[in-house]
Amino acid sequence: MINLTINDRLVTVESGFTVLEAARQNEIYIPTLCYHPDLTPHGGCRLCNVQVKGARTPLAACTLPVSEGLVVVTDNEEIHAARKSILELLFSNYYQAKPARADDELLKLADEFHIDYKKFQRSEPHFEPDSDPNPVIRVDLNQCILCTRCIRACAEIQGRFVWGLVERGIATHLSAGDGVPLLEARCESCGACAVYCPTGALQDRFADNDLIVDKKVMTTCAYCGVGCNFDLNIHNDEVVRVTSNPDAKVNGLHLCVKGRYGFDYIHHSDRLLKPMVRQYLLADSEKPAKVSSSPWVEIDWDTVYSLIATKMVAIKQGFGSDAIGLLSSAKCTNEENYLMNKFARQVIGTHNIDHCARLCHSSTVAGLATAFGSGAMSNTMQDIYDHARAIFIIGSNITEQHPVFGAKIRQAVLQRKTKLIVADPRRIDITEFATIHLQHRPGTDIPLLNGLMHILIKNGQQNTQFIEDRCLNYDEFAEVVETYTPEIVSQITGVTVELLYQAAEVMAENHPMAVFWAMGITQHTTGVLNVFTLANLQMLLGNMGIPGGGVNPLRGQNNVQGACDQGALPDVFPGYQKVIDPAARSKFEQAWHLGPIEVASEPTMKQMPGLTVTEMISKAGEGVLKALYIMAEDPLMTEPDLNHAKACLQKCEFVILQEIFPTETSEIADIMLPGVTFAEKDGTFTNTERRVQRVRQAISTRGESKPDWVILQEVARAIIELEKRTYIGEFSTWDYHHPAQIMDEIAALTPSYRGVSFARLDAGEQLHWPVKDKYHDGTPILHVKSFSNGKGIFHPTEHIPARELPDHEYPFMLTTGRVLYHWHGGEMTRRTNALLELYPQALIEISPEDSALYGIENDRMIKVASRRGEVTAKAIISERVSQGLIFANFHFPQEQNANLLTISALDPVAKIPEYKICAVKLAVVG
Ligand code: SF4
Repeated sequence: MINLTINDRLVTVESGFTVLEAARQNEIYIPTLCYHPDLTPHGGCRLCNVQVKGARTPLAACTLPVSEGLVVVTDNEEIHAARKSILELLFSNYYQAKPARADDELLKLADEFHIDYKKFQRSEPHFEPDSDPNPVIRVDLNQCILCTRCIRACAEIQGRFVWGLVERGIATHLSAGDGVPLLEARCESCGACAVYCPTGALQDRFADNDLIVDKKVMTTCAYCGVGCNFDLNIHNDEVVRVTSNPDAKVNGLHLCVKGRYGFDYIHHSDRLLKPMVRQYLLADSEKPAKVSSSPWVEIDWDTVYSLIATKMVAIKQGFGSDAIGLLSSAKCTNEENYLMNKFARQVIGTHNIDHCARLCHSSTVAGLATAFGSGAMSNTMQDIYDHARAIFIIGSNITEQHPVFGAKIRQAVLQRKTKLIVADPRRIDITEFATIHLQHRPGTDIPLLNGLMHILIKNGQQNTQFIEDRCLNYDEFAEVVETYTPEIVSQITGVTVELLYQAAEVMAENHPMAVFWAMGITQHTTGVLNVFTLANLQMLLGNMGIPGGGVNPLRGQNNVQGACDQGALPDVFPGYQKVIDPAARSKFEQAWHLGPIEVASEPTMKQMPGLTVTEMISKAGEGVLKALYIMAEDPLMTEPDLNHAKACLQKCEFVILQEIFPTETSEIADIMLPGVTFAEKDGTFTNTERRVQRVRQAISTRGESKPDWVILQEVARAIIELEKRTYIGEFSTWDYHHPAQIMDEIAALTPSYRGVSFARLDAGEQLHWPVKDKYHDGTPILHVKSFSNGKGIFHPTEHIPARELPDHEYPFMLTTGRVLYHWHGGEMTRRTNALLELYPQALIEISPEDSALYGIENDRMIKVASRRGEVTAKAIISERVSQGLIFANFHFPQEQNANLLTISALDPVAKIPEYKICAVKLAVVG
């Protein structure tokens, strides 16, 4: 500790502090402008200058380290006068015409120092007042004071280095390059520069400084599994802007372009505002072969509930409850997913419940649960940032899919010098930051990983103690890895032997190492085997159960982790309690039991798991699945082999779609129920780190729409009433008045959520499940002393080629994924003006070599065809893909959707489709 004197007060602070930090810790005020606690101190504005005993000139407190016996004066007449003249000088090269932003730090200082800045500022603007076409960030260099906070924010927070200073002397100004617009300077429009700007030089275009914000409501982002927190700014019961909240534990002030600017879909004119039914249902006539030929008719809630109940009960009576399937939603809250699981199992009497996790991380859940006993991310981003000496990313385009975590990894490389290995068939953005990029062929993850482990074992670099103490089945695993020599692996993967050795060396020498992955690993017919292989790697190196290590699957949607946790899966109840386990069945039968069921045929729960989403679709095609209740999912955007999926779903007798907009799936729906956005409801989401977070209602519901938990409850009651059932048991009723009650029920029935409550979350507690009781602090790191299932299990894995590889007829390999500016099926992001402006249509990436071969220029329309369908979209020539590889996304509907091409071949265990590889051919259009 260091003792120093500030303004005659003796203070003691930790060594390494600056004088500014020491003063702030002791509540001594020093004004600042270029300083921000999140950024490296710059010492440029000199506003924090203080007098130091023994120093001949004033020194900047923000860069001056404390030292024993230092004597500092932070304020007196002389210092005050100097600060005032610094501010006056700043204003002499400043011009502000429009209303100032409410949080303008420069103008607040003008007030504080009684400066009438209008007297000092320039008489007219010296720059274009809106000098950049960026759709979300407004640039007005007239208000720039060269504090460089934006430059440091872009470099240190986002890791992008867009901004810099150009020219010299009085001509010095901020620039993204020589007259280059921000977007051409590779700006990702995250808005960090505008957040950290202390003046109006950089601002959100959404910031209307004339508008009075009625309230700000802190909530959780509804896009990706990072789970950033932010404030919804409300004016006249409308969301007018998203702003950062410094109390956000996951993300601090940082957000990505979607979280910060992708909110106006909430008020889009396409919103479903009333229940709708197909006319044929009201006319009591036959369902037409193509249901879309029957027009939509608006209807009231009571009538629609009665229609649904009558139809569902008739199907139950006629065909049994397993003739009904339910799709829950990773977009909805934990409470809503819990209710959908209860609705399926208690009210309908089926385990046919699933959701989009099937299509993204079902192989992770299956693989990790088998290897370690828990299918979730084992560590937190913060412990990885703080402790990892190496990070290995495989099959995750992290800077586009989980942008705030992607930026954190850039920060780890830049600031903590963490070694980064990226294995990806594409040269994705994060590879720029990688120590090593292993550009292996798609579908060769197992040989690549086995080859690396072969080298590690040959060099004796495995963690023998960890393996002996905590793992099983090592010898069988090592025997298989023995056969994956670097030479064989190089042939299969296309990665050179030298690079394999270099990567193994980085892994061996940098302990702990954290592994991240996403759908590049999971969406294969070998998805579960790929996950086993990653689990093997982390056990081999002893990287489990420690800060900075772990297995870290990045869950895609905002609440896909929570939807899985709440039993929106066909084989498990909430908390992964297996439906095949008689004790678990008996527990939920007792909890949810209803009285005598006069019309239903199955009095107790089924003993075997229900259908997955992919199976439900084919069963609908076979005429076996008669009804499908879809809550906030869009299978006709996201299923593989869409033409086939549509043909199957068209045969389904009765489809209910509960959504915020009409979607592609509306075409085959019989009923649409208007749900609400995340801004209109309360609840919780669980992020990819197993952190349970609050979602808070900020505006009233639109039109006649209702929160999904309310709709589910009312549908359940209508069916129960029609079946004349009576309630027996504490948790069997459907009488919820607020999602907090639903969470209490979840906690009572789910060991991993036992200690979670709205009260604790609202008090700011950060709860990562398992939370064993109401006094338990949660579990940020899993598998610390032992694995959830006791010992970790090595699984020998062998290379199995992808189901459909290029051939003479279809010579290219297609891989699919997402882009920064859109999310999933795009139903929200395509209704957000700024995001659509930033990325207005599907683009298909092809390599420079292939473009030369086919005579394709940038923006040329091309047609890509597989054995299942074809897509027409613009080509973008990119070195991100190598020759023979094509990349397409699935954010845009109809002929631009890559899922018309993808194959529905499944992983045999997880039933996840092989989205990542199929064979295609291409042709120039016209
Ligand atoms: Fe939202 Fe994910 Fe972006 Fe955070 S990183 S703002 S959670 S989309």
